[in-house]
Amino acid sequence: MSGRCIFCKIVDGQIPAKIEYQDDDILVFHDITPQAPLHLLIIPKKHITNLNEIREDNADIITKIFTHIPKLAFQFGINEKGYRIVNNCGRDGGQTVFHLHFHLLGGRNLTWPPG
Ligand code: AMP
Ligand code: ZN
Repeated sequence: MSGRCIFCKIVDGQIPAKIEYQDDDILVFHDITPQAPLHLLIIPKKHITNLNEIREDNADIITKIFTHIPKLAFQFGINEKGYRIVNNCGRDGGQTVFHLHFHLLGGRNLTWPPG
C-alpha cells in the first residue's frame, strides 16, 4: 500500500509536508488546512485505512500515538490550556483521507458539539 495513498506518499517523501516528528512507527506533520492555531496530524507510517482495521495484533500503534500526544502538547505549550484529539472514521465520520490519522487541535477555545 505504501506510496499509493496521499499520507503514504508523505511517509515516503514523495510529497512534501511540514514534518514535526518521526520515528520508526509514527509521523507527525502539520495539516495543510489548519482548523486551529495548532493543527497536527499523527499517523502510523504503516498504512492502516481507519480505526475499523485496529485489532489486538496491531493496536500497539495506538499506544505509541497516544503516548506521543502529551509530548506534543507540552512541546507546543498547550498541555495546560487544553486541546482536542479527533479521529474521523468513515464517510459519516467525515474521513476524507483513508489512512488512519488523529488530529491534534489546539491554541484556541474549541466549541462543542462538533458539526
Ligand atoms: P480527515 O477529514 O479526518 O480524513 O482529515 C484529513 C486531513 O488531511 C484534512 O484535515 C486535510 O486538510 C489534511 N490533508 C490533506 N492533504 C494533506 C497534505 N498533503 N498535507 C497535510 N495535510 C493534508
Ligand atoms: Zn496510506
